[in-house]
Amino acid sequence: MNSNELTREQISSVPCPSCLVAVGKGCVLYLGGLRSGPHLVRKLSAIDALERKRAHLVHLSRFALWARAWLLERPGQDFDKHLTGLRLDGNGRK
Ligand SMILES: [Zn+2]
Repeated sequence: MNSNELTREQISSVPCPSCLVAVGKGCVLYLGGLRSGPHLVRKLSAIDALERKRAHLVHLSRFALWARAWLLERPGQDFDKHLTGLRLDGNGRK
């Protein structure tokens, strides 16, 4: 993703690491007053946040596909129980 592809909303969805303004506010100058555009580091931070969100969604949709396949292979079985079993296995206290 390129920083020029970001919308104003996407950029202002993260706080600015440079001038420390909050989410939803425009970047400010050191001497006060609004800056004409966001700081570069804020754009990079927004890209990072968006890519993280995207990766999370990909992860969730992979899980959904896997869960559906699991259910199709085992009709009538309780998927929640299966997940609880997995969690207990992971902690080593079955
Ligand atoms: Zn800023």
